[in-house]
Amino acid sequence: MFSSSNPLLNLENNPPFKIFDSHVHIWGHRYLNEYLGYIKRFGVDRILGIGGQELKSKLESRGLAENIIFCYYLSSYDFLKFKVNNLQKSIDEAHAKEIRVLKIFVGPMFQFFTRNKNPFRINHTRLESVYSKIEDYDMTILIHVADPDISYKKKYKNKKKYGSKEDRINDFSDLLGNFPKITMISAHFGCLPENLTRLGELLDRHPQLFIDTASTRWMIRELGKNATKSKEWLENYQDRILFGSDLGNFEFNLKFFISKQRRKYYWGSRYWSQRLFWETAHQAPLPFKDKDNSEWTQIKGLNLTRSTLEKIYYKNAQGLLED
Ligand SMILES: [Zn+2]
Repeated sequence: MFSSSNPLLNLENNPPFKIFDSHVHIWGHRYLNEYLGYIKRFGVDRILGIGGQELKSKLESRGLAENIIFCYYLSSYDFLKFKVNNLQKSIDEAHAKEIRVLKIFVGPMFQFFTRNKNPFRINHTRLESVYSKIEDYDMTILIHVADPDISYKKKYKNKKKYGSKEDRINDFSDLLGNFPKITMISAHFGCLPENLTRLGELLDRHPQLFIDTASTRWMIRELGKNATKSKEWLENYQDRILFGSDLGNFEFNLKFFISKQRRKYYWGSRYWSQRLFWETAHQAPLPFKDKDNSEWTQIKGLNLTRSTLEKIYYKNAQGLLED
């Protein structure tokens, strides 16, 4: 589907690498089999599936859980409203279901829909017992703490309500310092693909911190701005990076019917773009729109070394997420 006149750009079928996608949203069983089957042609054979309370047992009962490590989505509302008892109950439930990874979403969008006048702080003392429980259970957190720089310029301009991106990153660094035993995967390249110097500082300072490559267009847009520097940085931090897509399998949130062809294009275009970006030295236009870039985003391949690719694509996730 994404092949072009250049045969090297044909990344479908016979992938040379196995990929573990550490950031997938599973909304239910619908289209899941179709998704898991289709993505194999890009080499993806294992995923961290993010979902609600009942997801794991639902999929297990349908025989659909085989290649999935489950990640339990803690309620953002409970965080926002400091419903500590609810959060603890949810963590206990996850533990009882033998789920070892928790998702926390506290990006600025979470503030957008509320009347809260001040920014939410992830390191708030009222949440200490929640993190202590996570630590006691030896669970891992996948966390989303901020958004692209461009969103703070365009959408989250109200400083009083959202604060600055730097403040959110500093709060997160503080949390990492307070709970050094909790392994945390900071989604979307730590939300800092725009500032690799700051991201490097965080990784150097907090050995339990990892990052994922989720959100194809955000990564390709920002890391492609200085491909040489990005490549050097990725080679340097190759042990701390996990492949992620942020894809979903469609279930609700369906505003209109999406045909099978469109579903496949949505999934395939993201994997194809990321693989072209990490694995090759080719350039190509991103095969879908990046609404955060008025000029069409270009993929400028980083051509990472084979050993780095093997770690980012599989080994790092395997080491961290599998028992
Ligand atoms: Zn996500």
